[in-house]
Amino acid sequence: IDSHKLLVTMPVTAARLPKVLQLTLAVIKPDAVAHPVMSQALHQRILDNKFLIVKCRDLAWRRRDSERFYAEHSERFFYQRLVEFMSSGPMRAYVLARVDAIRQWRELMGPTKVFRARYTSPDSIRAQFGLTDTRNTAHGADSVESAQREIRFFFPDFCAGEWMEK
Ligand code: ADP
Repeated sequence: IDSHKLLVTMPVTAARLPKVLQLTLAVIKPDAVAHPVMSQALHQRILDNKFLIVKCRDLAWRRRDSERFYAEHSERFFYQRLVEFMSSGPMRAYVLARVDAIRQWRELMGPTKVFRARYTSPDSIRAQFGLTDTRNTAHGADSVESAQREIRFFFPDFCAGEWMEK
């Protein structure tokens, strides 16, 4: 095959790129960021799993940021615990790019509940680093819509619009 000709006859147009690389929002929660060795290991885990780090920032939430982000859980029994935990110290947020990034990051994190994660996905981040069902080390957007919303929440200046699937 003449690869040059192939390139000429099959241009990768800008419109097709978003279907190849998907963006997701990933967060290393305060339980892990409190331990530099752990957050460094998780950063390396991201790279080892072929995610591209598009953006990364350390930040800390006030209680009201935490309440707003998790508003959908406000009626759940763990809400107060969750809100308190997520505003208890610094976090590290990432915009990650990869083919199928949203699903791949959630798979790498493992199930929400740490003890289930240890049982069903022992190699996952939550299985290996999570402390409790609330202090479970990592967060990841769970759909294209939540990735868009959450990237905007954590990186208000990042204009992801033209790269995100509709
Ligand atoms: P995920 O983070 O896996 O998308 P959810 O959106 O259901 O899971 O929950 C948000 C966060 O709330 C979880 O990551 C965890 O920190 C906390 N949480 C969820 N379910 C429980 C539970 N049953 N007990 C304690 N904390 C929980």
